[in-house]
Amino acid sequence: MKKIALFPGSFDPFTKGHEDIVLRALNIFDEIVIAIGYNSQKKRYFETDFMLEKISSCFANYGNIKVDKYTELTAIYAHNHNAKYLLRGLRNTTDFEYENTIAMVNKDLYNGLETVFLITSPKFAFISSTIIREVHSYGGDVSRYIPYQL
Ligand code: ADP
Repeated sequence: MKKIALFPGSFDPFTKGHEDIVLRALNIFDEIVIAIGYNSQKKRYFETDFMLEKISSCFANYGNIKVDKYTELTAIYAHNHNAKYLLRGLRNTTDFEYENTIAMVNKDLYNGLETVFLITSPKFAFISSTIIREVHSYGGDVSRYIPYQL
């Protein structure tokens, strides 16, 4: 059976750190679904559809990487798309604290779902969507942190 991993996130914006996680995960899984989630607590800086288009353009040559958006619970989306793995990236202990709880909740909601963490590549460890939004909002150049052109 195909090993499908769901890589859920806000991706506001999608960064080179995210891209690195996706490409490395291809060594483990047969198919990756990158899904932009709707988070009621976060007002977006980049529109979901705009980011969907940008992420799709990055992986246009990969038949085994799909890009989507969703509004339901991540565990439900994973279940409906036959994804038995949730892919997440870890940069530091702050990420771990946050991810740890989410992974437990997702497992509780959908027992067949395993969260798999990849540790960030050191060269991308300092890249965060928050920092990119901050730099971009002041007119700074963020092109070296993202794998597409804005
Ligand atoms: P969310 O709002 O769901 O946390 P993000 O878009 O911020 O979504 O991040 C999606 C995933 O990518 C998270 O697991 C996050 O820890 C991870 N991530 C973010 N930046 C990096 C990076 N530079 N290197 C590796 N993983 C990262």
